[in-house]
Amino acid sequence: MRLVLLGPPGAGKGTQAELIARHFQIPHISTGDMLRAARQQGTPLGLEAAQYMEAGDLVPDSIVIGIVDERLAQSDCQRGFLLDGYPRTVDQAVALEHAVLTAVISLEVPEEELIRRLSARRICRQCEKAWHLVFNPPPQEGTCQCGGQLYQRSDDSEETVRARLEVYAAQTSPLKEWYAQRGLLLSIDGNQGIDKVFADILVALGESK
Ligand code: ADP
Ligand code: ADP
Ligand code: ZN
Repeated sequence: MRLVLLGPPGAGKGTQAELIARHFQIPHISTGDMLRAARQQGTPLGLEAAQYMEAGDLVPDSIVIGIVDERLAQSDCQRGFLLDGYPRTVDQAVALEHAVLTAVISLEVPEEELIRRLSARRICRQCEKAWHLVFNPPPQEGTCQCGGQLYQRSDDSEETVRARLEVYAAQTSPLKEWYAQRGLLLSIDGNQGIDKVFADILVALGESK
């Protein structure tokens, strides 16, 4: 299985990625997580990326394409992989053409719901899992199931969320047509409970649970 998860910020990519990666036993590759880790470590690349992330803009293709190519060359990706949040531009999709994809899963969620999800999203400092204060609350206030502390991403502020939704509409949503033309696009109704969305993804991939 070589899968791509496409969808606007807050669509549930990370949440579904965790379930899909576990089901198929493939690595979950999130460019957002990789860029946040580089920023945290203070590497030159991470510090450059941080400026774009804070503004809600995309990190330049030249940086992101290199990170993903390096990651896909690692041996654990030979059995397959799940890309979460990559590609996000046509140039990234072109750079990924060397990988023969099985399918591209597009999570469809209306904008008001995306805003509800992002405004109360909390992330674990330790394992990066995303919780939601109302829709998917952590087992204990402020603490992940792994024991890590939860925080709110600075780019989940209302103003930056609006910028990210605009960036998605302009730069990433054209990829739906791109992959539809290649017969790879599976559109999934992401505006349902987490378990139902996951069940629909498995059906679309021809899997029974
Ligand atoms: P979300 O889960 O809300 O969709 P991500 O964690 O995937 O957000 O990404 C956070 C930020 O990291 C993006 O707003 C962007 O700045 C940067 N980023 C992540 N993936 C990419 C990518 N494929 N290309 C360019 N920038 C990216
Ligand atoms: P993305 O990676 O696409 O930005 P996340 O997986 O981080 O999205 O989910 C965004 C927020 O919405 C998180 O707070 C998450 O707990 C919550 N969420 C994810 N899937 C659902 C769902 N099906 N219904 C309600 N809330 C959800
Ligand atoms: Zn955790």
